[in-house]
Formats: sequence, structure tokens, C-alpha cells
Amino acid sequence: MKQFWSKPISCHFAAVEGLKVVEIEKCKNDLKKLRDEMTSRGGSRVNCPCKYNFSDDGKKVTPRRDVPSYPKYTLSQETVEALKKPTFDVWHWEHNEMLSCLEYMYHDLGLVKEFNMNPITLKRWLLAIQENYRNNPFHNFRHCFCVSQMMYGMIHLCNLQEKLTLTDMGILMTAAVCHDLDHPGYNNTYQINARTELAVRYNDISPLENHHCAVAFQILSLPECNIFANVDPEAFKQIRQAIITLILATDMARHGEILDSFKQKVDNFDFTNEEHVTCLKMVLIKCCDISNEVRPTEVAEPWVDCLLEEYFMQSDREKSEGLPVAPFMDRDKVTKPTAQIGFIKFVLIPMFETVMKLFPQIEEIMVQPLRDSRDHYEELKQIDDAMTEKKKTENMSLVSAVVSV
Ligand code: 5GP
Ligand code: MN
Repeated sequence: MKQFWSKPISCHFAAVEGLKVVEIEKCKNDLKKLRDEMTSRGGSRVNCPCKYNFSDDGKKVTPRRDVPSYPKYTLSQETVEALKKPTFDVWHWEHNEMLSCLEYMYHDLGLVKEFNMNPITLKRWLLAIQENYRNNPFHNFRHCFCVSQMMYGMIHLCNLQEKLTLTDMGILMTAAVCHDLDHPGYNNTYQINARTELAVRYNDISPLENHHCAVAFQILSLPECNIFANVDPEAFKQIRQAIITLILATDMARHGEILDSFKQKVDNFDFTNEEHVTCLKMVLIKCCDISNEVRPTEVAEPWVDCLLEEYFMQSDREKSEGLPVAPFMDRDKVTKPTAQIGFIKFVLIPMFETVMKLFPQIEEIMVQPLRDSRDHYEELKQIDDAMTEKKKTENMSLVSAVVSV
């Protein structure tokens, strides 16, 4: 099949020759058809019990067993190589293209073969996943893609295929894909303080992460979307347990606990010790989840705007509802540099430097960009501070001028 996805990661559709555009259009239409078919049969959005369900249409999927046909997107060699690296431009791709990239990763890692997945079920599962991410500024399908692509990148960079089992790869990738499903755009603190249905349902214990996980398994409970349908029940139980452990590990309230546990193991790390491997997988999904700053500045920086937009949406609502507001979410207190400096210095670098003890190769590719980003934001903060100081001095002289008049 002709490779039509040969655009370099920094160029645009306009640069793609006519024939390729036609093929892309065909694939888009085929995907649209598949999506419409799923919707006409009830849609694949699972029921969500959140207070702030933007599209609370309560649709449920009805099983469909016919096989949709759409051509497999063929990724160019250039895209395939770029996909393995943290430098991949995650802003360059539309939803259908990200779906094809994810599909490619499952094939490339040997997961389709290992779990005897029906390739069409994989497509349908991915579509259902995409439909169950909301259009939040930050916690959206592109964030899901970023986390999954970083996991795919770390699997290659750290040669995890040689150290862990294929089942572990399937668990890591699937947990990454599912980890923020149906995120409502308001964090656990909001859920708990506003006593939302989610907080009540999960007794204030990681309500969001429990929900992401529940939605993940609601999707997998649909036979037509169950990528693990051909796995024996005992193995499925283990995969399910492991995915739950990983998704629940993404609650940042547990960051210290999980990192401390990993630090205790890392100097004598034993890949044959199940507890060690589970802890490593928890740290890996955590790394990928918060890895935007590992990416090049032009890819990473827009994510900070997205995060702040979501933070401000929450803090504005908290103010209007008379709920406590965290200073790091307050539009009157936070700036891009202040948001990033502390997070990079005290969360990201310490965690990635610990992982570096086990995988020294991440220093150049992942840790150094974090140090560069920290320096970049410290410079920006100095400029911000100087501007604030200048404004203050100007105001002071204005005041004394007015007073002397
Ligand atoms: P989540 O599972 O919600 O995607 O990620 C965990 C949390 O880490 C986010 O909700 C956000 O509060 C925090 N986080 C992730 N990336 C960044 C970042 O680049 N900067 C800051 N300040 N916080 C981040
Ligand atoms: Mn996340």
C-alpha cells in the first residue's frame, strides 16, 4: 500500500501531494462511517455519574458484531521513527491520525499477536476510548495520546521489552491509554469539596482515578470493544488488577508514597521480583502522565496554557461556589513560570533522576530537557519579576507626583 503519511513532523497537510490528500480523505471518511455506525447503534459513551457531565446523554453501547472495513493507515517510515521519541510533535495530528498511531503501537509492540486481538476490535476499542475523553482544555484525548506515546517511547528507550513481559507492555500501554477516561475537568479536591456524585460514590478516595478505571472496564465489558476477549479468564483477572493498580497510581496525592517505595527498591532492583516490577510500572505511568516538560519547548509550552486554563476554570467555579481555592490554581496568584519551576524542580526532576538510576540512558533524552526547561522558566520568571518591579517603581513615582501636586 502506498505510504501516504509521509509528511515530515513539522510540515502541514497543504504540503502533502494531491493523491495523498485524497487517500487521507478516504480514511477519514471510513473512520467517520465507523463512528456513525457506532453512534447509530447507541454510541459508545458510557454512563457517567459525574455532576459536570458535559454531554450527559446517557447513551449506552449496544453490541455490534459485524466487521467494519476501513483501510489501515500506513505510517511513513519517518513518522514511525518519530513516534518512538519524546521529540514527537503531538500537536501536529488530528484525532483520526492519533488513533492510527495508537493502533500502530499495539501492532508494533506485538500486543495484537500476544493477546490474539481481533484487529477490528482494536480499532473499535480505540474509537470508544476517544469518544470517552471529554473536550477539556488539558484532560482530553490529546493528553491521553501524549501519555501513551511517551510510554511507547520509554519502552523503546529503556529496552523494556527485554526486561519485562509482553503482558507487562500490554498493561502499561492500556493503562496509559485509559488513565484519564471521562475526566470532568475538575480535580479530586474539587470533587471532594463540592461533594460531587463521584466523591460520594468513591468515599473521597481517589474519586477521579477510580472513575477513569471504572469507565475503562465498562468499555472493555462491551464484547465488540474488548481487546482482551481472547485472553483466558485467569490472565484477564491479572491484567485487570494490574491496570487498576496503574491507573490508581496516577493520583498525585500518592506521589510521595509511590516515589519513596520505588527509591527503597531502585538500588537493588530485581526484575524477577513481582513487587519491584509493579512499583516500577507505577512509576513509569506516573512519569509519562506528567511528562510534558520532557518534550521540546515548543511542544511542551502550549500544555501549560491548557493546564492553567483548566485550573482557572476550576478556581473561578470554586470562588463562585464559596469553596476553598488552591493558590496554584488561582489566576491572581499563578503565572506560567511559577507554575512550572516548582513542579519541575520538586516533582519532575527528583522522579526522573530516580528512574535514571535504573535506566541511565534517560539522562540525555529526558532529564536534560527537564533541566533546560527549569532554566528557561527561571529566566522567564526573572523577566516577569523585573517587569513587576519596574511597574511598582513607576506607580510609586506617579503617586508621589500626584501627592506633590
Ligand atoms: P493527571 O493525571 O491529572 O493528568 O496529572 C496529574 C497532575 O499533575 C495534573 O492534574 C496536574 O495537576 C499536574 N501536572 C501535570 N503536568 C504538569 C505540569 O507541567 N505543570 C504543573 N504545574 N502541573 C502538572
Ligand atoms: Mn493524566
